[in-house]
Amino acid sequence: MRVAVFCGSRTGRDPRHAAAAAALGGALAARGVGVVYGAGGCGLMGILADAALAAGGEVVGVIPEALATVELLHPRLTRTHVVADMHARKALMAELADAFVALPGGYGTLEELFEVVTWAQLGLHEKPTFVLDVGDYYAPLAALLDHAVESGYVAPTHRQVVRLLPSVEAVVAALLPRPANPP
Ligand code: AMP
Repeated sequence: MRVAVFCGSRTGRDPRHAAAAAALGGALAARGVGVVYGAGGCGLMGILADAALAAGGEVVGVIPEALATVELLHPRLTRTHVVADMHARKALMAELADAFVALPGGYGTLEELFEVVTWAQLGLHEKPTFVLDVGDYYAPLAALLDHAVESGYVAPTHRQVVRLLPSVEAVVAALLPRPANPP
């Protein structure tokens, strides 16, 4: 199983965000879940990748040619796909992944999150999408989505396409549900 993780190319001011990126990378690797991400070595992206690699995990990077410079590229990934542009990057990340997780981030993260959410809404995929709401970072987004439902722009049945979860443990449990009656 592989999970595409969308997250900031910056580290942000709240130290809980970096801690969550490291914890998520380590937790996925420990469970044999591969990480697909934007191949950057900076910000939460680099922290996530370093933690997954340190725990022996598979980390696959997908980056457009224009960003594939030594300064930006993470130097030690399991595999790096250099693609033509941002559209090809998002398409390949989505294809390689069985599920999506968003950590805190800026425009790039939000754009990646909402593209897969829109595709789910259109029925183009059924891959689960989770938002790791570390330190309430995404509370304003949840409020906006509720407002969009109340205002008649998002169908109530589509509201759950974006699932906010409070911890790395909750994300891992949602990605890898335990059998109802373990032997
Ligand atoms: P942002 O949330 O605006 O920092 O953008 C983060 C997302 O955009 C990541 O998930 C990447 O896919 C992409 N991205 C932005 N900056 C970079 C970078 N310097 N190197 C690689 N990918 C980046």
